[in-house]
Amino acid sequence: MQAGKLRRPQTGDGHDFRGHRGQLAAPGRTTSTVAMVLLLVFTPSCRPPEPEPAAAQAGLVITGANVIDGTGAPPRPETSIFVRDGRIAAVTPDGGLSLPEGATVIDATGKFVIPGLADMHVHFGLGAPLPRQPDETEQVLARELYYGITTILQLGATDGSTESIRALRERRAAGALPAPFIYGTGGHLTLQGTHPVYTVFPPAVREAADRLAAATPMSEPVDLYTLGLGISFVRTEEAARSAVRERAAGGMDAIKITVESGPTSFGDDHPQMSVEMIRAIVDEATRHGLRVFAHVSSPDELEAALEGGAAGVVHAPQNEPLPDASVAERMAAAGFIVAPTLSLFADPPDLDDPFLRATVSEEEVAALAEPGFVERVRPRWECCAPFDDLLASVGLLHARGVPLVVGTDTGNAYVFPGYSVHRELELLVRAGLTPMEALEAATRGAAEMIGAEEEFGIIQPGRRADLLILGANPLDDIRNTRSLEAVIVEGRVVDRAALSLQEAGHPAVASEPAAADRASPSIGEAWRAAAPEDLGLRRAPLAELTELLRAGEPYPSVHAVCYEVRAVGSEVAVFESERVRSRQGGR
Ligand SMILES: [Zn+2]
Repeated sequence: MQAGKLRRPQTGDGHDFRGHRGQLAAPGRTTSTVAMVLLLVFTPSCRPPEPEPAAAQAGLVITGANVIDGTGAPPRPETSIFVRDGRIAAVTPDGGLSLPEGATVIDATGKFVIPGLADMHVHFGLGAPLPRQPDETEQVLARELYYGITTILQLGATDGSTESIRALRERRAAGALPAPFIYGTGGHLTLQGTHPVYTVFPPAVREAADRLAAATPMSEPVDLYTLGLGISFVRTEEAARSAVRERAAGGMDAIKITVESGPTSFGDDHPQMSVEMIRAIVDEATRHGLRVFAHVSSPDELEAALEGGAAGVVHAPQNEPLPDASVAERMAAAGFIVAPTLSLFADPPDLDDPFLRATVSEEEVAALAEPGFVERVRPRWECCAPFDDLLASVGLLHARGVPLVVGTDTGNAYVFPGYSVHRELELLVRAGLTPMEALEAATRGAAEMIGAEEEFGIIQPGRRADLLILGANPLDDIRNTRSLEAVIVEGRVVDRAALSLQEAGHPAVASEPAAADRASPSIGEAWRAAAPEDLGLRRAPLAELTELLRAGEPYPSVHAVCYEVRAVGSEVAVFESERVRSRQGGR
């Protein structure tokens, strides 16, 4: 598809939706060439966008809207929303308050305003079988925002350590990163020998992880941060408690654990976290005011999480149907939350969908459409229960009163940042939720999941002013969330055009944010200083690099995530992680 044919984001009724370039400047895209990776490694420049002047926060008023406030209440017609200092100040019938002097007024007559959407299961990756791009995390965040995702919960893995999440938050707060509000778990807690390191990651990562484990006392978590991964092995309760304390001290918002033994597309021979271990993690997390959410694939794993006191699961059990309704009843009684990630298990979306192609490049689509790659991912769709059975399970959970939350598991192939939230809403409606209930799962329910209901999720005074203006009523058809005309995050109107692929001639690459990131002393310097051999990495002649990066590693969802290159004389070293830094620096 030519750039000129890509969909231009709508900009409403001629209001200036583009006056905030400081906060929301183009995040940059790269062409994922070897040259670009090398350029960034050696580019010292650091020029983050200017923070937006405080004067621009004089106030914002949206008038004339049909407001769907996220509480489940019917839409309120002809309503005004007053925003000040990034928060909702008042919600009144039109004319109920006079317009503040100097405020920006958006006439949303006849349009629909909903709370910004949340994705409560996010990983930082684009999911295409291409070399990881230096600014891939930034691209994920920008795409989320483009599609009206104003809040995410990041659940570990690539770029998901406590330190990485904190650094991203700081850049966002300084106005240097167009991104949703980022909640995070830090690295997820799992066992050595199971998901995801021993199921979907390349052998080299597994071997490096085993080396780290051998050098770590059993009483300590084995943090894979030096491999660029927010993942920790916990082999004793003492280590697990220590890992929880590290995340709590680092300002994380929840704890994620992996309870996975199969059967799934990646086998049936992995150790499963014990109920006793889950209980210890929940106990320590509770001391620090954090809830624990589990990755599970099957009903028995879900039952272990429930019995261990976890607050919920971040997948519906997909490999077999729930045995009976009694589990759902126990879950409902406990207020046990489920983020089903239907987007992960549904067939891939139409790769030619213009709404998708607004952010997903020709190169990514070509790679995702490549038959060999599709075959490698196929077990994910075909391993387990038919998708209709999964929909039925989710429908059963909903009917029995189990709270459902929107989570997509973006970062996996065919689960696209931001776009997949709109798809998840559709799939939840297919599972039996009303459009209103589906919206609540992406707004109020998401906030309640992590105890942040005073912060976001509904349109009421005091909450962050995260608002979407839609051209059509999502209660008539949930697909109308795609009629997105404006995204407002913490009171600022997002320059969606700058976040899309729309404009021919728009610079394809903006390396500053990634270069700035590279230059951070905590990551960049140590990374540059480390010798590849010390890190157990291999070298390859430059000419072979592309082949190496594309070589058929049988790990479709993540294999592209785990390589990085660096020039070493006339050769390049292929780093088997996204970010490599010294072990000392990571502890
Ligand atoms: Zn996940």
